[in-house]
Amino acid sequence: MRTLIEGGWVVAFNGTGHEVYEQGSVVYEDDRIVHAGGPYAGAADTRLSARGKLVSPGFINTHVHTAGNAGDYLLLDMAKNDYRTSNYMSFAAPLKGKLTPPPPEAVAALRTFVFLHALKLGATTIIDVGGQRGDWEGYVRLVDELGVRVYGSPPFRDRNTFTDAQGRLYYDHDASVGIQGLKDAVAFIRAYDGAAQGRLRGMLNPSQVETCSEPLLRACKEAARELDVPVHTHAGGNLIEFQRIMEEYRKTPIQFLADIGFLDDRALIGHGVFTTAHPWSHYPFGDDVRVLAERGATVGHCPYKYAKMAITLNSFQRYLDAGPRSWPRSPTRTIRPASRATSSTPPPWAAASSCAATTSGAWHRAPRPTSC
Ligand SMILES: [Zn+2]
Repeated sequence: MRTLIEGGWVVAFNGTGHEVYEQGSVVYEDDRIVHAGGPYAGAADTRLSARGKLVSPGFINTHVHTAGNAGDYLLLDMAKNDYRTSNYMSFAAPLKGKLTPPPPEAVAALRTFVFLHALKLGATTIIDVGGQRGDWEGYVRLVDELGVRVYGSPPFRDRNTFTDAQGRLYYDHDASVGIQGLKDAVAFIRAYDGAAQGRLRGMLNPSQVETCSEPLLRACKEAARELDVPVHTHAGGNLIEFQRIMEEYRKTPIQFLADIGFLDDRALIGHGVFTTAHPWSHYPFGDDVRVLAERGATVGHCPYKYAKMAITLNSFQRYLDAGPRSWPRSPTRTIRPASRATSSTPPPWAAASSCAATTSGAWHRAPRPTSC
């Protein structure tokens, strides 16, 4: 059956780049796009009006936590004054032993909501940097049923974060927990990489640069090479992390990751805001943005999250000019024009993926990155 989507703004690929068509049209038949661009004069069995809407390739959301992004953190954005730009610690650093894990049905509802929310915003490829909290089979089944394309595996770390009785943040190191977490993640990838009709792909997720010891990060990168999968970690995400890495290694988080061989074209850095480029870091020595670019790493920026804290990348254009691949997350929540959002290049490993499953993503075999 041939379906015609007409009347909207259409972002189409002309073989070398993307173009925006006003009053454009997209035609698909079964799982193939047969036309994307200007008016379509041929026959169609079904016509859908997209007037006032954007019709584009499926977006790639480079930073999703399916185990956490549907929580109540919007209520906690003020965080605590001494958590300087580390608002997530408000819910990720409980009194030790006091946080009860959510029941399985809550976990299932949470991950379903997060996936659906991302799809609703136009993302058909999800990089899940914080998911798979138990019930792996259920997770894989959900990915299959929703038709979403996912990169991920269970995140892990060996320095858990807690708050003491006086409300102070502290890190609790247990190397065995980290090693076991890495083993679990490797087992997940060995079991499920290529599942959901090839739409679920493995990716290792050591949680944050300061919650993982250097031996754990090195072991993770080695495992990623053996498995031939990309790797993600949060770095340059907040000032507490920046300062802790400076104190432990006498270098910035980005430089530290570069020096241990973590950064390359298979590495995605969550946020990368607090670098030598950001004035709040007060550390003008070296050039982290250039380091990211030279290593070929990708930055998954999250402008909406940071906008809530009145923080921006410094600057998005500077990152683009320097060369590290970087994308804002959640493009539909910003005013960035879609044409610009789709002009970037996706991570090489994501670009290798074939068509996304939803209508918006099915007409271009390599889903374009998004910003949201
Ligand atoms: Zn994150």
